[in-house]
Amino acid sequence: MNVSLEDAHGRTIGDLRVSVTDRCNFRCHYCMPAEGMPWIDRGEILTYAEIERLVRIFVALGVADVRLTGGEPLVRRELPSLVARLAAIDGLEDLSLTTNGYLLAGQAEGLVAAGIDRVNVSIDSLARARFFEVTRRDALDRVLAGLEAIAAFPAVRPIKVNAVPMPGFGEDDVLRFCELARERRFQVRFIEFMPLDGGRAWRSEDVLSGAEVQAMIERIHPLRERPREPHATARVFEFADGEGEIGFINPVSEPFCADCNRLRLTADGKLRTCLFSLHETDLRGPLRDGADDAELERIIRDAVWRKELKHRIDEPGFRPPARTMSAIGG
Ligand code: SAM
Ligand code: SF4
Repeated sequence: MNVSLEDAHGRTIGDLRVSVTDRCNFRCHYCMPAEGMPWIDRGEILTYAEIERLVRIFVALGVADVRLTGGEPLVRRELPSLVARLAAIDGLEDLSLTTNGYLLAGQAEGLVAAGIDRVNVSIDSLARARFFEVTRRDALDRVLAGLEAIAAFPAVRPIKVNAVPMPGFGEDDVLRFCELARERRFQVRFIEFMPLDGGRAWRSEDVLSGAEVQAMIERIHPLRERPREPHATARVFEFADGEGEIGFINPVSEPFCADCNRLRLTADGKLRTCLFSLHETDLRGPLRDGADDAELERIIRDAVWRKELKHRIDEPGFRPPARTMSAIGG
């Protein structure tokens, strides 16, 4: 019997992003307006027991990689206890976390003890003033301390640093990120700005493409591309002298939908089959109404079968989803 989760386009699902909260302690321009967002009521947020139950079902259906995200996952109370519950699931091979790093120094040890395998830290600039400009928080030093705290655990590798380069991002930023990648051996990845910002201000002119950032880097350090891993979001390059690596996540200029194997579970229990889905499938309702695993599996399989062929950013008639990045789970 085939247990794997397949969509109508021949893609097999292997990766689940789980948002544990839509709340955040930062207000990055490309994600949230300064005043924040209308938060989801606490009673609507899945409990850790509910998340564990759903993740167990997904893993039984072939999901091997789970990433915890948000909003800011570390603002949710006792996150390590969720990590421990998920790390104990047989068949789950890779349990990772994406964070803005602000609370990481205090939580790194607990997360590692609970069984986190990998951590990505988002840092948009390594210059204090620019970091403040982008995130609206004067917190670069604290985030870097968080990054170092998690890097102190050699088992947590690779460590990735995500940056969304916005207009104004320049040679100075590029140089600093190259240094970080080369000297500290963190994989720095540049993500193109997508129309998922809470302020609804996205314009294609504001997207600094991966190719543009790559050209800036190559003026200083030549790069050599690595073969693409199946289902990868990033094109990964190593510095031609072998000292470290850099990645480019180019969803706008070079969509990678063709072999997308990802699903997303929002903090309020909706299954999304694409970042840009206009339709989502409620799992929390059936779960709280007493559905058994077989019923939940049927709902999941139906939703996955209808997974979107591709996103249509910037095509005529494109409509962004009602939920924006922080409420979806990036
Ligand atoms: N708060 C955590 C963080 O910032 O890492 C986790 C959630 S955040 C939504 C996940 C990733 O999405 C971050 O790397 C962030 O930079 C990225 N992101 C947020 N809004 C985006 C947008 N409009 N376009 C591209 N990436 C975005
Ligand atoms: Fe918060 Fe992450 Fe969004 Fe920044 S990108 S506002 S840290 S959720």
